[in-house]
Amino acid sequence: MKHIIIVGAGVSGLAAASRLIHNGLSPSSVTILEAQNHIGGRVHTIVTNEGIPLELGAQWVHGQEGNVVFEMGKAAQELNTDIQTLESSGFADNVVFGFEDYKICKEQVRELMQLIESLKETSKNDLSKWNKSLGEYYEEKFKEFLDGGSLSTLDRSVARAFFEWYHLMENVIDGSDSWEETCGSGHLHYQECPGDPLVTWKRGYSTLFNILMKDLPCCHNGLQMPLSDRILLNKAVDTIDWDPEGEKKIEITCTDGTLYVADFVIITSSLGFLKSNFDSFFVPSLPPFKKRAIQGLGFGTVDKIFIKFKNPWWSSDWGGVSLLRRRPEGVNGNVVRSQWSDHILGFYTVRLHPNMLIAWVTGKAAREAEKLSENEILEVCSTLLKKYVGADFAYTEPTGLIRSTWFNNPFILGSYSYRSMKSKEMNVWASDLAQPVYDSSGYPRLFFAGEATHDSFYSTVHGAVETGWREADRIAKYCNGFQNAKL
Ligand SMILES: Cc1cc2nc3c(=O)[nH]c(=O)nc-3n(C[C@H](O)[C@H](O)[C@H](O)COP(=O)(O)OP(=O)(O)OC[C@H]3O[C@@H](n4cnc5c(N)ncnc54)[C@H](O)[C@@H]3O)c2cc1C
Repeated sequence: MKHIIIVGAGVSGLAAASRLIHNGLSPSSVTILEAQNHIGGRVHTIVTNEGIPLELGAQWVHGQEGNVVFEMGKAAQELNTDIQTLESSGFADNVVFGFEDYKICKEQVRELMQLIESLKETSKNDLSKWNKSLGEYYEEKFKEFLDGGSLSTLDRSVARAFFEWYHLMENVIDGSDSWEETCGSGHLHYQECPGDPLVTWKRGYSTLFNILMKDLPCCHNGLQMPLSDRILLNKAVDTIDWDPEGEKKIEITCTDGTLYVADFVIITSSLGFLKSNFDSFFVPSLPPFKKRAIQGLGFGTVDKIFIKFKNPWWSSDWGGVSLLRRRPEGVNGNVVRSQWSDHILGFYTVRLHPNMLIAWVTGKAAREAEKLSENEILEVCSTLLKKYVGADFAYTEPTGLIRSTWFNNPFILGSYSYRSMKSKEMNVWASDLAQPVYDSSGYPRLFFAGEATHDSFYSTVHGAVETGWREADRIAKYCNGFQNAKL
């Protein structure tokens, strides 16, 4: 009997395990080693003191058509499919855009949104021939718009500030630290699923685990063996000794000294983890093509800061505030962002949590914020809120916060992958990361799943699920081959 070890019980690992068993493998031939004390990885639903789910990681099902997560969630009747949920998105109609001393009017916001939308639309054609970064593309197009001369000086400075805000928004969506690091043409690799891009779960994203894990033939040799019995928590894999000659089984050693042997290993660790650890994690080290893929693809940081208040001090029709910054200007006219808080996108209301606001922060600023104490963060956020909206409401001080620290998590080390300029320079893409590593007799040994290995749905949960299924199917094929041939 072949033994398969899956490193990581995130969505891709769970999807791979359930598919292997669906494909006919005995549940006892699959073991999932998870470093953390919980499953789910970057899907991390916590329950607040009030008993309400809150998402530290993924929160939306992005699109409906062709989205396997949407299909599963809908079939299980676990999705809010009947409501449009634009909250926390920064784009909602009830979000105001403002400087510290001045809010821009709704018409102006609408016009600027339309400008961004039309830039995005045109970019779909232009970027395929664009050799530079996404940021350089947008900067050039935006400059053309400003030089068109239709705006007054005041409008020009508002438009510039709005454009700078959109840059931060794009960092949240794309996952890169700056759009100058995102490859313009590579950006087109990402495919949107048609339909509502912000579908939410009724009981939190973690419901997906139950859906994936329940979906198993539960009997094997008369014994019931649910997938949860095959997951070992607090098992951080330290090294994978994979024998390129293919003469012995793969040896997986955990940091607690335990050793597992397997015929195949599916690695689902995040690209962030692989970037930091690939040199020592694989023994012997990986072939050059695989190392280049790990080094070239981009992996940035996006964090959420939920700020709690005793009671909402804002009105029920207020969706939040997007923070616009004006001066001082840098050499190229861009806003100089000297402090981490200059990178906060805005403060937005949170669905199901009437006493909370969420602040999104990305890149280097997010990594800096992760090092600060909760009190330090609260102080900064409260100062900003007072400056931006203190005069509009009877503001009261926050009482606490809940935040993600994705970069500081040693088994994630960031948030999600993107197509970087380095990927383009090195000509390495998701398909390179997805390629198995073969031994000298031509059999695959190491399989790679996880969001970063998806050609077009990278950085998403549905992408992660598909990659788990992809590798499980690939293994099943080889298992049959092996049964007749080798091992
Ligand atoms: C803030 C944030 C918001 C997001 N929002 C959305 C969203 O709204 N919609 C969406 O579709 N996607 C969203 N995503 C992306 C989505 O969460 C991920 O793409 C997806 O969850 C990745 O799943 P995965 O299985 O590839 O990786 P992971 O979830 O990272 O799973 C890998 C697992 O491997 C474990 N592991 C790593 N190394 C080891 C080791 N050495 N030994 C043992 N175990 C190890 C980790 O602990 C982890 O549990 C968001 C992500 C973040 C961070």
